[in-house]
Amino acid sequence: MQQIECRCGNKISLSEIPVQGEFVFFPGEEWDSIVEALVAAACRVTAQDRVILGEALSDALAVKVSHFYRCSQCARLILSMRGKGQLEYYKEEG
Ligand SMILES: [Zn+2]
Repeated sequence: MQQIECRCGNKISLSEIPVQGEFVFFPGEEWDSIVEALVAAACRVTAQDRVILGEALSDALAVKVSHFYRCSQCARLILSMRGKGQLEYYKEEG
């Protein structure tokens, strides 16, 4: 999935980092397990290497979060829940 297409036709590239319009989130009930995963990742780093630590923490976080993308064209929210293959589209009620 190198890009996602909004229902309005706008394409959001997932290969440009940071992804424009991307937000990441996780369930509040997973806070403690996420902190534990980050601590475990930090403890695996033996050297005082900030790059390695940053990558380890980023890897630990990446498997815990879900994403949504805000379309810059129509403001729809495109939700990508962790563990679910399908995208969900939400448009503001008004
Ligand atoms: Zn759109």
